[in-house]
Amino acid sequence: MFRKLVSLDEAIHIFEQQFHAKPGEVEQISLSQAHQRVLAKDVKAPLNVPPFNRATVDGYAVHAADTFGADEKQPVTLKLLGCVTIDEMPEIILNEGTTVGIVTGAPIPSGADAVVMMEYTIQKNKLVSIYRPVSQRENVMEAGSDIRKGETMIRRDQLLSSRDIGVFAALGFTKVDVYKRPRVAVLSTGAEIVEPGKSLVLGKIYDINAYTISAAVQECGGQPSNFGIVPDEIDELRAVLKKALASADIIITSGGVSVGPKDVVPKVLNMLGKPGVIVSGIAIKPGKPTTIAIVNKKPIFSLPGHPTSSLLIFHVFVRPIILKMAGRQQEPPFIVKATAAEKMFQAKGRRTFVMVDLIQDESGKLLARPVALGLSGAITTLSKAEGFVIIPERWQFINAGDDVTVHLFKPLPEFALSAK
Ligand code: AMP
Ligand code: MG
Repeated sequence: MFRKLVSLDEAIHIFEQQFHAKPGEVEQISLSQAHQRVLAKDVKAPLNVPPFNRATVDGYAVHAADTFGADEKQPVTLKLLGCVTIDEMPEIILNEGTTVGIVTGAPIPSGADAVVMMEYTIQKNKLVSIYRPVSQRENVMEAGSDIRKGETMIRRDQLLSSRDIGVFAALGFTKVDVYKRPRVAVLSTGAEIVEPGKSLVLGKIYDINAYTISAAVQECGGQPSNFGIVPDEIDELRAVLKKALASADIIITSGGVSVGPKDVVPKVLNMLGKPGVIVSGIAIKPGKPTTIAIVNKKPIFSLPGHPTSSLLIFHVFVRPIILKMAGRQQEPPFIVKATAAEKMFQAKGRRTFVMVDLIQDESGKLLARPVALGLSGAITTLSKAEGFVIIPERWQFINAGDDVTVHLFKPLPEFALSAK
């Protein structure tokens, strides 16, 4: 099949003309499922938190004015009316000259405006001696001081963290409105690919891509479903892709896009519907055979079979689209400046992504060291790499000692570097 390679920028442009990635519908889910989901509506506080004035220490609730002038030598003595329980609004009304025992978190009885810490008191029978004065509101957390009723607490498009979940719980929410996660069908192609766990006869290899890609889909907020391994047979592939199109928002296949006789994926993509294949090959390395189709308004990304190539293309092309569809903000790229440890070559005219790991030399300088150059079939290339260096189309190489920007797969904790 005739291939016209386009640059990565052109491929992105062609895709964006055909498909506008945006957050999908809104669904209501239970709070316990909401972690790492994206909020679809602003949330206003329906109540004050705390809902009532609360004691912040163990001690005695008082009229602050009663304690003025108290000191170690001349304590003020107040009449003890009883004790407030932590889970009920006290019925006692505190008049001047009286006090009640109170514990941390318990409601302040009406009349009282401060709490004296237990440490500065001595109780004898029905009398409490106070050895230190308190000012009004001392040791009292006022109603609404944490969250004010009506306040917008969490805004739309927020990726919900464990702290946000705590805010919802404090406000009594059991359900949360979030964007639906984009459903991503993942399938592998090739007669030689076998499901992990099955026996491996000579000539076969285990399916890596379905697992790496599904995990990467989850990382950016998509919901993967594995449609299994399909041999390079037109009819079978067509049937599975039709099924995937019926239930998923995006489809990702791997393998079968090169120029071998068994590479039938592009042909099948063109049989499924209009417009079919819109990009057949990108001038990058690795990942040149990457093929992109749109069928029934749904994108199909057909990535190369090599695990490193397919995951890299996922990272640079597919991931930003899933992030948008999941309603997640585009994260700034994680980058670090480093020095090239070796000369790195460009693949003739193609934007080249060189997988690197990072090491520090004796002087503490950060070096980017290419990992297993050229072996895009090796899974270890991926697991050893911490990121990649991009050699643009207009350059031929990067020299050892040149400054480079390393695009990290994930943020690098500083200790990981110094521990090496
Ligand atoms: P292809 O793009 O189908 O020619 O595949 C390129 C190479 O990647 C071949 O060596 C395949 O065996 C290998 N490969 C394809 N799909 C997978 C997969 N899902 N997991 C691991 N290796 C794969
Ligand atoms: Mg294949």
